Amino acid sequence: MNERTAPPQSEDRESTEPPHCACCADAIDPSEWYPIRCRPDDDDEFQIHAFCSEACCDRWEQSEITDETERQ
Ligand SMILES: [Zn+2]
Repeated sequence: MNERTAPPQSEDRESTEPPHCACCADAIDPSEWYPIRCRPDDDDEFQIHAFCSEACCDRWEQSEITDETERQ
């Protein structure tokens, strides 16, 4: 007796989802070149941040620097 049930919602959609800009949250076209930055998070795990443009990347890095300064 095989009862057909709908497949469960895939939980690992993230790996196939297109990246989003870490600065403005815009969707990034993965077939185009886009800037990325690697930063260790608070747990010392490297996180990859993708950006839709160099401008967003710059702005994000600026805010990172500001955060660091405020923390001291
Ligand atoms: Zn952006």
